Amino acid sequence: MSAALETTEGHIASAMRTDAPPAIVLDKVNKWFGALHVLRDVDLQVATGERVVVCGPSGSGKSTMIRCINRLETHQEGRIIVDGIELSDDLRALDAIRREVGMVFQSFNLFPHLTVLENCTLAPIWVRKMPKKEAEELAMEYLTRVKIPEQAKKYPGQLSGGQQQRVAIARALCMKPKIMLFDEPTSALDPEMIKEVLDTMVMLAATGMTMIVVTHEMGFARQVADRVVFMDQGEVVEVGTPDQVFNDPKTDRLKLFLSQIL
Ligand code: ADP
Ligand code: MG
Repeated sequence: MSAALETTEGHIASAMRTDAPPAIVLDKVNKWFGALHVLRDVDLQVATGERVVVCGPSGSGKSTMIRCINRLETHQEGRIIVDGIELSDDLRALDAIRREVGMVFQSFNLFPHLTVLENCTLAPIWVRKMPKKEAEELAMEYLTRVKIPEQAKKYPGQLSGGQQQRVAIARALCMKPKIMLFDEPTSALDPEMIKEVLDTMVMLAATGMTMIVVTHEMGFARQVADRVVFMDQGEVVEVGTPDQVFNDPKTDRLKLFLSQIL
C-alpha cells in the first residue's frame, strides 16, 4: 500500500488498509467513575492507516474513551485490543501499548524544566534505550518536520502555544508510534495558532499514520477523516463519513450538537 497522497479536492487520500488486522478494537466497552456511567457499550474498530475524528458535547466521554486506549484510564467491562494486544493488567502488555501509541493533549504537557530537545529525547533514551546521539538526531528530524528545529535549545515557556503543541507532536513521534491519539489538540490555542497545528496533523495524516483525533474542527475532519464518530452521554451515537455525519445527521442528538457548533 502506498503512502497517502493529497487529492485535488484537498482531501488527504486514505492509507487505510482493510487487508490488515484492525489497529484498534473496542468491543462493548463500559466504564464508570464511581456511580457515573461514562462509557456505555462503546464499539469501535479503527483500521490500520485509518483516521477517525471523534466529536460530541463536553462530558460525553471522548477523552475517557481515548485515554482508555492507552490505559491512562482503565475500563471495567468489554475488551480493548490495540495492535493485536488486549489491554489487561499485564504490565508487559501495557508497556508494549505505551510504546506504540502516542498521545497529544489539549494542554501540551511538556516538561517545563527540560529543553525542547530534551523533551523529545527523554522517552526514546529511557524507554526505548536509544543512544543519546541517535535520539537527538531523531528528535531534530521530527522538529524539522513540525517546522521548529530552531527552537530545540529553548524551554517550553519560551515558545508560543502553537509551537509547544508542535513540540508535543514531535515528542510523541520520536517514540515511533504506530497509532497517534489527539485529545482536542487545538482547543487551548489562540485562533492564529490553530492552523499551524492542524497543518502539522494533516502532514502526519499524509504519512499514513493511524489517528484518532478528538476535535470539533470540521475543516480538518473533512480534509482528513475517513470516519467521524459522534458521541453523546457515553455512547457512540452515529458513525459515518464526514459528509454523512455533518450533512445528513440521523439523530436529534447529532442535529442539536451540529446546530450548536456550526
Ligand atoms: P469529554 O472529553 O467528552 O468532555 P470526558 O471523557 O472528559 O468527556 O468525561 C466524561 C464524564 O466523565 C464527564 O461527566 C466527566 O465529568 C467525568 N469524568 C471524567 N474524568 C473523571 C474522573 N477522573 N473522575 C470522575 N469523573 C470523571
Ligand atoms: Mg475531553
